[in-house]
Amino acid sequence: MQEYTIALVAHDHKKSELIQWINTHIDVMKKCKIVATGTTGKLIATETGLEVKRYQSGPLGGDQQIGALIAEGGLTALFFFWDPLNPAPHDPDVKALLRLCSVWNVPVACNAASADLMVTSPLFLSSDYHPVKPKYERSL
Ligand code: PGA
Repeated sequence: MQEYTIALVAHDHKKSELIQWINTHIDVMKKCKIVATGTTGKLIATETGLEVKRYQSGPLGGDQQIGALIAEGGLTALFFFWDPLNPAPHDPDVKALLRLCSVWNVPVACNAASADLMVTSPLFLSSDYHPVKPKYERSL
């Protein structure tokens, strides 16, 4: 069976919203291998009981570690509840992570409504759906 790895990340003011969202979609979440930034991952594990591979906390490099996973072709989708109302010390990392989703055509949802639509799509976790993987050899 194919393994689907998803990344879950939430900024501090969005963490409770993410936990609530995960609980709403717990059956889908259970089908995925979950990775997360440090604090988000710890909270997910304690609040939902899901198994989570935790990277560094976002401000300490966790966003970049998830970015590296994307660059290696190892991420199916990113759910990133970022906070539009408060500046983060690692804003450049946040931007870089979102940029890599576009570079590698990885589905990304940045708010609960988009995330709802993404996980309820019949294409989500479908073995029949393979997003186009961009080829950059010629432009590099
Ligand atoms: P955190 O990081 O899960 O360690 O809080 C999230 C982020 O700020 O990107």
